[in-house]
Amino acid sequence: MSSYIVAVVTGANKGIGKAIVRNLVFYHANNIPSLKTSTLIVYLTARNNLRGLSATNEINQELDSKKLLVENGGVARVLFHQLDITDDESVQKMRDDVQKAFGGFDILINNAAIGPEFLGESFSPTVAKKTLDTNYWGLIKTTEILLPVIKYPGGKIINIASRFSQIKQIPSKKLQTEFSREDLSLEELNELMRKFEKHTNSGVTVQEGWPTSGTVSYNVSKVGMLAYTKILARRLANEKKQICIQAVNPGWVRTDMGSEKAPLSADQGAETPVYLALSNDPRLEKNGQFWTRKQPEEW
Ligand code: NDP
Repeated sequence: MSSYIVAVVTGANKGIGKAIVRNLVFYHANNIPSLKTSTLIVYLTARNNLRGLSATNEINQELDSKKLLVENGGVARVLFHQLDITDDESVQKMRDDVQKAFGGFDILINNAAIGPEFLGESFSPTVAKKTLDTNYWGLIKTTEILLPVIKYPGGKIINIASRFSQIKQIPSKKLQTEFSREDLSLEELNELMRKFEKHTNSGVTVQEGWPTSGTVSYNVSKVGMLAYTKILARRLANEKKQICIQAVNPGWVRTDMGSEKAPLSADQGAETPVYLALSNDPRLEKNGQFWTRKQPEEW
């Protein structure tokens, strides 16, 4: 009997997100016994309707032309839904529509992010605010709004982190200790992130031990989202909700954010996120890990 596996990918009209959608649906059906009896529905979401629909049509056309999954016994389809992770109403609408259509979903891939400092904007209070609004506050709000409709046992949340998510990005040992405390609560983490914004506004980030150069706001936002991954992992365990949550560094990837100089293609960047989303690797039983090239790594 056929059943549905439903996945949602944020920020998927281009770059790694689009490659994740494409690779999810093209993942060889032979590798995944469950796909042989299940229809895989992947929601490609984007904040812009035209860009999202264009990417969705492109992948579905490729799927139709190859008939790969159908031949291997599984069926896959990409559907589009508008989703801006900084807009609560947009997230709520998508949650309600997916719930109505499929009763909820199985896999959330939090991919959407911005990196203005990679695109020539210098570190400033404005850049710090807009980066955190998307990469930290937006990711958390989106996850919290969608969490009630993620199915369990068996649901998965995959957060796209970065090598800049590693705690060593924060020079201050005191801040490192605070971020990595095993009993850190979400309220305390939020307070740390607000402190960063406050120190940025007062021009004292260096004195207060935040990163001194490079993509400062981006790095802090990605450290914060990894700390959140760990907090949510503990909360899910306490609530006895069997939802797998992991963070993954896709590597340095040729996209608008990663630039043409990056060594990896978007498909290569999608490899580990797709693996974590679809495999039953026993190492996934430990929640809240940070993965690079299909291996858990130290934070
Ligand atoms: P891109 O800039 O190519 O794509 C980012 C995507 O996020 C776009 O689809 C963009 O939409 C979307 N997005 C931005 N803001 C929002 C929002 N508010 N709501 C919904 N979607 C939004 O980046 P990459 O593909 O390179 O990055 C994807 C992920 O991988 C990010 O989390 C990034 O931090 C991470 N990463 C990337 C690396 C790299 O080398 N490229 C390295 C390590 C991590 P729009 O087109 O509308 O702007």
